[in-house]
Amino acid sequence: MLFRIVEKMAFRSLIQLLLETTQVIGPRKIAVTREGKPVHQYLPLSGFEELELGYDTTDIPAKSYFLPYEENLSTWSFIGNDWTQEITYRLQPRVLVGLHACDINALLKLDKVMTREFFPSPYYISRRKNSFIIGIDHEPCQGGFCHWLGTDSVNRGFDLFLTDLGDRYFVAIDSERGFTLLQQVAVRLVTENDTADYLTVRRRIASGFAPPLDVRQLPRLLDMEFDSEIWRRWGAKCLSCGSCAAVCPTCYCYGVSENVSMDFTRGAKVKQLYSCTLKDFAEVAGGHNFRSARETRLKYRYYHQHRGFVEQYDEPKCVGCGRCGRSCLAGINPQEIIGDLLATEVPS
Ligand code: SF4
Ligand code: SF4
Repeated sequence: MLFRIVEKMAFRSLIQLLLETTQVIGPRKIAVTREGKPVHQYLPLSGFEELELGYDTTDIPAKSYFLPYEENLSTWSFIGNDWTQEITYRLQPRVLVGLHACDINALLKLDKVMTREFFPSPYYISRRKNSFIIGIDHEPCQGGFCHWLGTDSVNRGFDLFLTDLGDRYFVAIDSERGFTLLQQVAVRLVTENDTADYLTVRRRIASGFAPPLDVRQLPRLLDMEFDSEIWRRWGAKCLSCGSCAAVCPTCYCYGVSENVSMDFTRGAKVKQLYSCTLKDFAEVAGGHNFRSARETRLKYRYYHQHRGFVEQYDEPKCVGCGRCGRSCLAGINPQEIIGDLLATEVPS
């Protein structure tokens, strides 16, 4: 990894240059809450002024640009005695700017599932390869617990990563294309003074987090507490609305439907992301539902995040972004559920 310093005016010029030729997506303010807090969303930018790099968080993760909630896998049509099928997954290059470490870590976890498993997804891979990623350091966000899971910083998965030093950015460069792009504006080498300022900022960010809980024993506890009243208590609150998985940057479960025209001459295979907390998630042909109780569905969501994924990839699926807790109308919060599970452990 290389490091350089970019003055803020030079960074502005860089984004303006990119905007002339490429789609640039970044955090834009879309609303204000009743309490006066700005609401941000990753959206295409039409000018540098729309980019708000000092945002707290977004309700919808950057995942939606790689795994959209709905996508056409293929379309087909009959013409005369012949038929054609069209599969489109190529994407023009684009830039995503302002991603926080948790969202980049989430993409790294999705990469493991979508690019290396037995059935890699060409749709996901084409979007990932054609996306230039500029991340940025930030102060701890409301409801986030990324520091419990080691996802409050990131060393891979981006092209450039910025740390705000006031009048300039400390830039980590992790790809050849990132290095090449930076050549378009004035950059300079890092001085001792820059390094000292960078370390001061990183220490300030780290000290802003509340002391973390130790989640290393969660996979074992989840097995031990399989029949715990914890699930009945939290499950009784769950509305089975599916919002938690919809906003999660690492959830990837989906369903596929075949939409056929009334005259049977055209059709499309459509993929839609789905949520494991929805009532029919585990319903099979014949009507049997393996997880008919909502507490069971809630439990398995936590099992996949903190037990199943660990078994498969040696790391939790959750990045601690807190989005599921913030979006839950029933007040179900991952930190509290994890806290309840950890409280069952008798200290040695
Ligand atoms: S968002 Fe809350 S209420 Fe809705 S399914 Fe998830 S845990 Fe249940
Ligand atoms: S489970 Fe919740 S806290 Fe964890 S990554 Fe998903 S949305 Fe974020």
